[in-house]
Amino acid sequence: MEIDAQTGFFLYLFGWLVLLGVCWGRELWRVKIYDWALSEGRVCICEDCHFAFLIKSGESVARCPRCDEMCTLRKRY
Ligand SMILES: [Zn+2]
Repeated sequence: MEIDAQTGFFLYLFGWLVLLGVCWGRELWRVKIYDWALSEGRVCICEDCHFAFLIKSGESVARCPRCDEMCTLRKRY
């Protein structure tokens, strides 16, 4: 099997397109996961009883559903 210059060039171009497509798809997937995490709220762990529960993303203070202790969310950024 012989590959001429033109076929080789097209194969090279096709390979790059596939690589770009994979990178683009991965980026889209990452953004989707990030958006999902933001809309679903954040995990807050009670300092008193170590009970983990979800609070809304806009809130930074919540009450623990188990022991009713005030729980402040620490920013992780
Ligand atoms: Zn608690």
